[in-house]
Amino acid sequence: MPRAMRDFANTLPGTIHQRVRSVKAGGHGRVKGKRMTAMVPINTGEATSIDTKPLVVVDDVTLQYKTAEHLVTATYKVGFEVYAADRYVLLGPSGCGKTTLLKAIAGFMAPVGGSITLAGRKIDRPGPDRMMVFQEFDQLLPWKTVLGNVLFPLLVNRRMPREAAIEHARSLLAKVNLTRFENVYPHMLSGGMKQRVAIARALAMEPAVLLMDEPFAALDALTRRKMQEELVALWDEVRFTVIFVTHSIEEALLVGNRILVLSPHPGRVKAELNAGHLGPADVGTAPFEALAKRIHNLLFSDKVENDHPEIGHV
Ligand code: ADP
Ligand code: MG
Repeated sequence: MPRAMRDFANTLPGTIHQRVRSVKAGGHGRVKGKRMTAMVPINTGEATSIDTKPLVVVDDVTLQYKTAEHLVTATYKVGFEVYAADRYVLLGPSGCGKTTLLKAIAGFMAPVGGSITLAGRKIDRPGPDRMMVFQEFDQLLPWKTVLGNVLFPLLVNRRMPREAAIEHARSLLAKVNLTRFENVYPHMLSGGMKQRVAIARALAMEPAVLLMDEPFAALDALTRRKMQEELVALWDEVRFTVIFVTHSIEEALLVGNRILVLSPHPGRVKAELNAGHLGPADVGTAPFEALAKRIHNLLFSDKVENDHPEIGHV
């Protein structure tokens, strides 16, 4: 098998601990089925020779809530593709349907139009192949220690024998720098540490895709920046696939290698941008600020930045 293919295979579910260094994520500047205008040059290092199938395909997805009086359309015909080892960001203003999209990918709600597939299979229910990290600090089990929290889904899902699970959980806690805290209960941790536990717990399950819903939004600014950097460093080590929701342009640029910009309610695709070349060291530099400004203008204009009018205007 060619090396690139083998490396790609390593990014598939169940092999998260194998490092995949030669796959450069982000070479697929494409919104589902429609090639977008190339906006920014991306990773220029090793070439991505793998033009393989996307892992998650969101195809023309419309999501609605039915309440007693109203039918709320949360997203309208949204389409995008996420490839293995992508850090894919959904960016848009509050209420544009980001959480709803994540819920649909997680399998908690079904689209009224379009479809969502994971590795070619239609998503129709939740599963341990899609682990979620939320914004709230209280997503941990308060009566279990840090180690107990990371172990819990491994044991419930009978992933491996207890001894192996403990070893595996510890290795994840080491990756998020919480080894010293494994016997501590959640109420004794800071918000940032709780989020690290939630990330370790989710990654321990080796999900096909990690879903993160504004996981750092409730943290103070300094901790938030640190967590953003740590997440990218962790990705560099483990090469998981993540769909990351935020309404912060800066966070999108720091965390993502590709960014899907959504319109205000109901959410529609405005553009997809590459940002894999930008990191924390670039904050304040001209390329960073230029892309931030461009996204800002996209978010606040009613133009759709692509060469495919069928994606539509808001
Ligand atoms: P975001 O995460 O981008 O802030 P959401 O996905 O939470 O947006 O919400 C998208 C739209 O759907 C909003 O207009 C919101 O009011 C509506 N919505 C969200 N959850 C529900 C619900 N459970 N019932 C009815 N409407 C909802
Ligand atoms: Mg939300």
